[in-house]
Amino acid sequence: MFTRGMDHPDEAAITRLGVMGGTFDPIHLGHLIVASEVRHALELDRIVFMPAARPWQKAIYSNAEHRLVMTALAAAHNKRFAVSRLELDREGATYTVETMTALREFYGPAVKLFFILGADAAAKLDSWVRIEGLREVAELVVVGRPGHTVGDGPTPDSWPVMHRVDVPAIDISSTDLRRRLRRGEPIDFMVTDEVASYIRENGLYVGEEPVDAA
Ligand code: ATP
Ligand code: MG
Repeated sequence: MFTRGMDHPDEAAITRLGVMGGTFDPIHLGHLIVASEVRHALELDRIVFMPAARPWQKAIYSNAEHRLVMTALAAAHNKRFAVSRLELDREGATYTVETMTALREFYGPAVKLFFILGADAAAKLDSWVRIEGLREVAELVVVGRPGHTVGDGPTPDSWPVMHRVDVPAIDISSTDLRRRLRRGEPIDFMVTDEVASYIRENGLYVGEEPVDAA
């Protein structure tokens, strides 16, 4: 299930698992810093980056395998980071509730699951499919993101338990990185060196953005 995963020696020791979903088109330092901070704050054993196959809320730019490789290159910097192709191998649209339910079935009740998301994604939670089903299998962790506020009020009882973790504000987005690459502007220190090399070697993000881009 994981590129570095089920055969990993400490797999059996996992009791608290964080999952970070996204398009990772490309993965950047904002994602990595959030993952590291949340892992530390909530004492998670592992963070799994879960690239989405066909995000239902946005157009995608790079093919899934490129996004997966870039995510794996970045995740290799932390031994507690892993990458899963679970969503890439599923047919059709993937909803977080389905992914987390699959992980719940795989790991069983002894492993506590956390789904991590930024304030921009959290603001759209009321449009999520079967959010009350997600409550059965996972808790949410919301982090701030420049330009978006994290609500501190109560959430509906039917929603998953929600944690809020303070992280340094990192104003990097994949949208801005793609724009920079198209314009020939630098992306140094915004993605890992390996990801920057991969983008260059594979000629990613040089053409026009799709017209239906969100
Ligand atoms: P895009 O601009 O293409 O939407 P993105 O930078 O938002 O890309 P995603 O792959 O959409 O990256 O994000 C995956 C998850 O990471 C989301 O929950 C998002 O809120 C969170 N996230 C991404 N960048 C940051 C950041 N700089 N700070 C906090 N959270 C972030
Ligand atoms: Mg986004």
